[in-house]
Amino acid sequence: MKILVLNCGSSSLKYQLIDMEQEKVMAQGLLERIGIPGSLLTHIPNGNAGEKVKISRDVPDHKVGIQMVIAALQDENHGVIKDMGEIDAVGHRVVHGGEKFADSVIIDDEVMKVLHECAELAPLHNPANILGIEACSSLMPGVPQVAVFDTAFHQTVPQEAHIYGLPYEYYEKYAVRRYGFHGTSHKYVARRCARLLGRPLEELKIVTCHLGNGCSLTAVKNGISIDTSLGFGTISGPIMGTRCGDVDPAVIPFLMEKEGLTAAEMNNILYKKSGLLGISGVSSDMRDIEAAAAEGNERAQLALDIFAYMNRKYIGAYAAAMGGLDAIVFTAGIGENGIAIREKICQGLEFLGAVIDPEKNKVRGQEAEISRDGSTVKIYVIPTNEELMIAQDTLELVKGRRGCCCCR
Ligand code: AMP
Repeated sequence: MKILVLNCGSSSLKYQLIDMEQEKVMAQGLLERIGIPGSLLTHIPNGNAGEKVKISRDVPDHKVGIQMVIAALQDENHGVIKDMGEIDAVGHRVVHGGEKFADSVIIDDEVMKVLHECAELAPLHNPANILGIEACSSLMPGVPQVAVFDTAFHQTVPQEAHIYGLPYEYYEKYAVRRYGFHGTSHKYVARRCARLLGRPLEELKIVTCHLGNGCSLTAVKNGISIDTSLGFGTISGPIMGTRCGDVDPAVIPFLMEKEGLTAAEMNNILYKKSGLLGISGVSSDMRDIEAAAAEGNERAQLALDIFAYMNRKYIGAYAAAMGGLDAIVFTAGIGENGIAIREKICQGLEFLGAVIDPEKNKVRGQEAEISRDGSTVKIYVIPTNEELMIAQDTLELVKGRRGCCCCR
């Protein structure tokens, strides 16, 4: 079975075609500048091994974009299938499932209706995801489509961890609560962690640290998410590349008044001008921050210190929330590659039984245990693979191997 995995943004589209027999990527690519002059498709046949093919053409909308992707997949030179009919199903990454979706779901008219309702909660992302689904429905009628939500894995977070200390009516009126994101990634690495430990996921307490440009930590207890650091939006938790992380809410109206900022301007500061970038004044990129700190830039060093401290604090908090800890997993750009920052985060966690091994920690982008022999809490690097997780969910639903979660 061949599954096309699509991640549609407002002006870009990422895709992978995965052969599920061997869970092998047949082709992948990125289409940029949809609806903007200078659209460019970068297509890589045969996973990462193939030569990159670059195709530029005007792409006014997502439908034309997906048509272009399908054409690239069938092309006689760089294609990997003969006919579009070889695509058995499409798995879509959908950012927000609100409270309606606690699992992936086969898309039908009823689901589409609910997806439109959820769009209010993720106005920058869900509309683009919907455009991708609609384009596929018209280009590939009859091919089953599945929505896999960033939020779904966290729908198990109990009320005590997802209701904010605000008047309850705002939850009732506007569904203001913690949702959590990166769920597909947390779910994938938690499953892999159980495999590596050789123990059932259902009996483990794991903190999964998805540390990329966006960061979130999740407490995965007995296989389910019981707390996670991102919330209603995608700015809470530890500081991120440009996002502020946890800030006393009192600061926000204070700054708005002092600087005469509108809500949109304040939002822009919290999401785009804060975090590693805001503190250091150097960059949002961890590699630049590390380089600047090594050259003696004190604010870059401060940004590193804060990043490590906040992550360490969350790991400790989640160990307490779960009543113990079996493993810590690092994933995403910083988690998979940041040797120094992983060591820095773990310094001070020895009291929990988590001891990092500086030698084993010298790994990048591959699955590895990085805790010292005898460390009672195992520490792992596990590259995330959200596309494969989406394809696995799609396969299971399409083959009817598990029930559809449907709307609650
Ligand atoms: P992502 O959003 O998952 O693509 O992650 C992007 C982040 O990963 C950026 O902050 C990069 O600086 C960081 N990153 C990538 N490679 C490294 C590396 N070798 N060391 C430290 N951070 C890295």
